[in-house]
Amino acid sequence: MIRQAEFKEFSVWLDPLPDETLFSWCSRYHRLTVNGLDRNTCLQLFGHHRAGTAHDFPARVGTFAVLTKGMLGTAPEIIQQRTLLPFYLPFRPERLGRQAEQALCGHGIGHLKYRLGLLTSGLGAAHPLKACSSCISEDVNLYGWAYWRRSHQLPGVWLCPKHYEPLKVSPVKQDQVARFSWVLPAEVCCAPVSCLAALSSDQAAWLFKLGLLSTALLDCVPGQFDDPVRIGQTLRDRLKARGMTYSTGRVRWSMVEPILMRMTMDMVCLPEFSHQSDPELLRSQLLRLLSGRALAHPLRYLIWIATWFDDLADFQRAYAAVHAANVLVDRSVAETMPIMRGPNNLQQQFLLQACRGVISLSAAAKQAGVSYATMAVWASHLAIEPSRRPKKLSPAMREQMVIELRNGADKEALALTFNVSVVTVTRILRTVAGLQEHWHAVRHEQRRSAARHAWEQIAGLYAYMGLKALRRLQPAAYAWLYRNDRDWLNTCARSLPKRVTGNHAAQRIQNADERMAAALKQLANHNTNPQVWTLDSLKRSIPRIEKAINFPERWPQTIKVLAFILVLCKRWGPPDAPNCVALN
Ligand SMILES: [Zn+2]
Repeated sequence: MIRQAEFKEFSVWLDPLPDETLFSWCSRYHRLTVNGLDRNTCLQLFGHHRAGTAHDFPARVGTFAVLTKGMLGTAPEIIQQRTLLPFYLPFRPERLGRQAEQALCGHGIGHLKYRLGLLTSGLGAAHPLKACSSCISEDVNLYGWAYWRRSHQLPGVWLCPKHYEPLKVSPVKQDQVARFSWVLPAEVCCAPVSCLAALSSDQAAWLFKLGLLSTALLDCVPGQFDDPVRIGQTLRDRLKARGMTYSTGRVRWSMVEPILMRMTMDMVCLPEFSHQSDPELLRSQLLRLLSGRALAHPLRYLIWIATWFDDLADFQRAYAAVHAANVLVDRSVAETMPIMRGPNNLQQQFLLQACRGVISLSAAAKQAGVSYATMAVWASHLAIEPSRRPKKLSPAMREQMVIELRNGADKEALALTFNVSVVTVTRILRTVAGLQEHWHAVRHEQRRSAARHAWEQIAGLYAYMGLKALRRLQPAAYAWLYRNDRDWLNTCARSLPKRVTGNHAAQRIQNADERMAAALKQLANHNTNPQVWTLDSLKRSIPRIEKAINFPERWPQTIKVLAFILVLCKRWGPPDAPNCVALN
């Protein structure tokens, strides 16, 4: 019954609103079509009962573009204009940008957040849904409903660029409460962020500038600033121009440190960074940047660009002026990589016809001007098996298919490639002596290698996240290994690096704990309005507090302050209770 709402002809026309995200458009579509269950809309728009509901990096955008007949444009256009992906690509290799785009077009984003550096950035990988109260009421008056603007969702954007108001956060997609739901902003559902209350004029100006930089990053091409050495030189040149370096090139810390202090005061109001507002930490990050080492998150670059440059265009000019000789990365390899793009509008029409069985896959490939293999890949991305006319199996074809099956080829893929039914492939498997046993053995080995590879890819995260989190990150591989290859899994687990080993690592954790505790104290002291400190409201201002909650034994000082704040509130009680007393 879950497919009851599926339709063959797409008939609902809904224009996207200015700066609207794909998630927002789909949520409005969901409401307009009165689909009831969220999964009905997922099925209609993405061809899968759970796909598409990620509000930052949705998967199966290729299927969406085909099923909606290009209503919002081609898949690459949708990704470029209506998802958060473009924000993350300018500081990363161009090749990664193409792979990320393919991931969003395909069945699932896999480890995209890890590969983009979000999981190891220290700033978190979640994107809270944000909205501006004035925008909500204006939208309701103008359009009849409020929607999610992409420019509000970007990391580093906390003031509405139109109304200069602090953005509010919707709790819906946090804590996985409604991970697969379609939702729209509403004033009653959005909560204020405590650290954005009572901003000083300096803080507001700094936040506003940072927001403009985040938004400007969307217009940059993938890989545009993918050279940390060149970025380091750009920054060094700027410091030199401001007289903040000696003739030897060394930094004049006496001049730079007051600026770091000011940055620290500004960063207290930035939720992503509130737990890291520490001049010592900034000093080491600046040195890291100047020495040409890469930073994991675009926002880490943007806070330095906000400090030393007028705007992104200013930084871009300075970056371009750095002599090309400093470019150490050999780009020739990246530029010879084949460009995998999704089908354009016309090609999508042929693809759709083939998927509906109106024309054959090979005819569709011919008319679309692409190879049969490309069309087959597009079709397989849609997870739709095109209906085929029965075809006689020639001896040569059969022989080739046996060879492919001996190599462990997937049955569905083979059927698609040779334009036969899966039943035909199964028949060959069963009728050639020994083939079926051999095929199963090869497939088992393939699955084992894939699972081991997948597990090894994330094993490095163990030191940061622990085994439980790793299992959640790669559940399929873990489940397969647990059932079929447990000895290897146990051996692998024993060899994983311990969480905290050397003195240096222990000191680093202790410093992070001190900074987080300080951020909490500052937040509690900063907020003078009477309010109840719930864990949720604390998490909106310091999202990384979650780390301390998950691993309290590693964050003793933070937990102590947290307990103090929460116990105080409980003792005094709402609603007329004063806020926490000043913490020292
Ligand atoms: Zn607004």
